[in-house]
Amino acid sequence: MSYSRRHLLKGSLAGGATGLLAGLGQAQGQEGSGVSGTRKKPRGIIFCVSDGMSQGVLSMTEAFSKQVRGKGTAWWELLANSKATLGLMDTASSSSLVTDSAAASSAWSSGKRVPNGQINFDANGKRLESIGETLQKDRVRLGLVSTASITHATPAGFAASVIKRGQEDLIATQYLNRVDVILGGGSRFFDPKMRKDKKDLFGTFAKEKYDVVRTRDDLLKSKSKKILGTFSPGYIPYTIDRDQDAEMQKKVPTLSEMSEAALSRFLDDDEPFLLQVEGARIDHAAHKNDIGAILNEQMAFDDAVGKMLGMTSDHDDILVILTSDHGNANPGLNGTGAGYRQTNDHFAKIAQIKGSAEWFLQRWGKSETKSGGEMSKLMEATYGFKPAPQELEAMMDRISGKKVTEWSNQLSNPVGLLGQIVGNVTGVGWTGICHTSDPTQLTSIGPGAERFAGLVRNDSVRDRLLGLLLG
Ligand SMILES: [Zn+2]
Repeated sequence: MSYSRRHLLKGSLAGGATGLLAGLGQAQGQEGSGVSGTRKKPRGIIFCVSDGMSQGVLSMTEAFSKQVRGKGTAWWELLANSKATLGLMDTASSSSLVTDSAAASSAWSSGKRVPNGQINFDANGKRLESIGETLQKDRVRLGLVSTASITHATPAGFAASVIKRGQEDLIATQYLNRVDVILGGGSRFFDPKMRKDKKDLFGTFAKEKYDVVRTRDDLLKSKSKKILGTFSPGYIPYTIDRDQDAEMQKKVPTLSEMSEAALSRFLDDDEPFLLQVEGARIDHAAHKNDIGAILNEQMAFDDAVGKMLGMTSDHDDILVILTSDHGNANPGLNGTGAGYRQTNDHFAKIAQIKGSAEWFLQRWGKSETKSGGEMSKLMEATYGFKPAPQELEAMMDRISGKKVTEWSNQLSNPVGLLGQIVGNVTGVGWTGICHTSDPTQLTSIGPGAERFAGLVRNDSVRDRLLGLLLG
């Protein structure tokens, strides 16, 4: 790359050009430069999904991370890295402008948009081949890591084909010998005591040379090339709740620890691989308008990304892709106060939040009196502020299921309302409690990154990945 071109590119990034243009510029720069020492095709691809991450989550997590731990995020740093390629993911399903995770992962994996709720089955009920199934034939190893049940829609989309995303018992059976590294929640779909058909999938996987682990310690000790690790019956607990619970911290690994364990199994040899790493609970927190949970969850996802970027920094044959399957509830920081001068102080109050909305509602469920006084105390203990009398009254109405008419459906829902009340203090607003149609961020670094520049339709990802891994 000539000095002038590099200079120009830096200038365009610093000048705040859109990701799209900066990405295209970078792609051209790389094509023209023939970067020495960089292989054109990667041996391995790490596909990182921050599930349900709207744009505002990325920028607020950058500010939050700087506030609470004095450093920014790996993803933000990558956006400013002239070697990275920037793009946008065009998300939709065959049945809706707004996709769910099942259809989104199926589009990436099968190359076809399918109806929401289906995993690699099209609108006519035709079974489609997942990317994992294709790669298995060419002996490309596959890994899946998630903070949801590992049989949940996003990981399942890469390795299973089922007509309904809820068929997690069936999805678990399809992973056998197709996915070498399986780490996340969801032990109930492998455990004979919890599966509907009482089959012992842990035993079946162990017979096929998987190391079956159930605790953080066993994960960290394991050296087995094939591994099945499930660390909770369903989802892995939210980071914000895990951080308050020493017992949980001992038993349940972080996403970063699971990602490191997975990637080390692929980096240690010369075989081609595809590894999907999902921060699943960013999406769940968005559905609950839960600002404390979502920023801590995105920070945990970013830790995993930072760890893997560090592990691959001296490998020139690994492509790392960061994206999201869809937006969700589009949270954003609104300016507050005259001249927006109170914005930063309001935003800083998020750091006081001590638990997720899920944890808050569980505590409320256990409260004895269910009185307004108790609700006020619990809100203060969890969020660090007392609700105003009318906010408290509204919360009591929604939570007791009293029929209410609101101008926005979001406010008829207890978590939707709670999110707005917390937003009155933090400045963070939400557009709803559901997925959104916006394109999502797409950031890539490593050989082949230029193929993920600009606007990329979700159903074109399969060909791009296979072109790099098999082409
Ligand atoms: Zn969702």
